[in-house]
Amino acid sequence: MREVVVGRDGRATGVLYQDGAGNELLQEAKAVVVCGGGIETPRLLLLSRSAQFPDGLANGSGMVGRHATFHQYSFAIGLFDDEVSDPLYGFSGHYNNLASMDFYETDASRGHVLGSLIFPSMIGHPVNWSFPGRPSWGQASKDADRDFFNHSMKIGVLLHDLPVESNRVDLDPDVVDAWGLPVARITHTPHPNDYAQERWQVAKNGEILEAAGASRVIPVNMERITGNTSHELGTVRMGDDPATSVVDRWCRSHEVDNLYVFDASVFPTATGINPALTIMANSWRCSEHIVRYDARGWTD
Ligand SMILES: Cc1cc2nc3c(=O)[nH]c(=O)nc-3n(C[C@H](O)[C@H](O)[C@H](O)COP(=O)(O)OP(=O)(O)OC[C@H]3O[C@@H](n4cnc5c(N)ncnc54)[C@H](O)[C@@H]3O)c2cc1C
Repeated sequence: MREVVVGRDGRATGVLYQDGAGNELLQEAKAVVVCGGGIETPRLLLLSRSAQFPDGLANGSGMVGRHATFHQYSFAIGLFDDEVSDPLYGFSGHYNNLASMDFYETDASRGHVLGSLIFPSMIGHPVNWSFPGRPSWGQASKDADRDFFNHSMKIGVLLHDLPVESNRVDLDPDVVDAWGLPVARITHTPHPNDYAQERWQVAKNGEILEAAGASRVIPVNMERITGNTSHELGTVRMGDDPATSVVDRWCRSHEVDNLYVFDASVFPTATGINPALTIMANSWRCSEHIVRYDARGWTD
């Protein structure tokens, strides 16, 4: 899909897409629900320019693509004398069904706002597990695998990063995709609170590992937000005020009353938890609202 098409009245009339043979087709619709994810949804809206929407569809506020958040995943590693699969520790395999919200709420004494979910896991996969200072080549590398692989676990934090207006997705002025359309360009600088929250929580996770018996703890802090969680959020934010948000509380565009966005891009804040279930629950909630209320006005 390359464009959401609007009529003279500014309402969405359908979408333009290409089939497998490269033919461009128009799919007419009474309403359009965009679900392209936190990067491709703002890109599609920005690509959907028209006389009524010269800066992109539903972007009169200039908010489409802004407030991008990414949930950096950082962690502290603990090295244990016993194997971590030892019944004493009761821990085995990759991610456990175990997480803590104990540090989720703001605590002013920490010097930053917000907090995140934390959760333990094994260190990683044999071919790519690593931590700062680990030898990466030759006999020393093999020794490290032997000494540490079954003796390590980590406790991670899913950073509850702040939405900042200048952190954004827009259209790249130079790079195009295979269809000649501008690709998404991401501009992002972490807020100082992101660094403060991440460092505090990684240090706390290290304390938890020490309390659990780790003989050595290695913090792995972020240098920048890399997108290592694949949680792209916030770029078509939900809100009551059309000047500061793109969609309303039912994920309907403030400007185009038959255009909706049901994906991770509507999150007004990053949440600091895995987003998939919330994305699904919200989509369900808003779909019911369409069926019960909005669709009543749509004629065949
Ligand atoms: C490896 C991995 C592991 C993950 N693990 C977890 C986890 O454990 N828990 C969790 O909560 N989250 C997890 N996530 C994140 C989660 O998958 C995403 O947050 C979620 O899928 C986002 O949902 P969405 O609806 O916003 O977008 P998506 O699920 O990305 O859906 C967007 C869809 O739109 C399509 N699309 C995009 N542009 C266009 C276009 N122009 N035309 C037509 N189609 C288009 C895409 O192909 C895609 O199918 C993980 C992600 C990855 C990559």
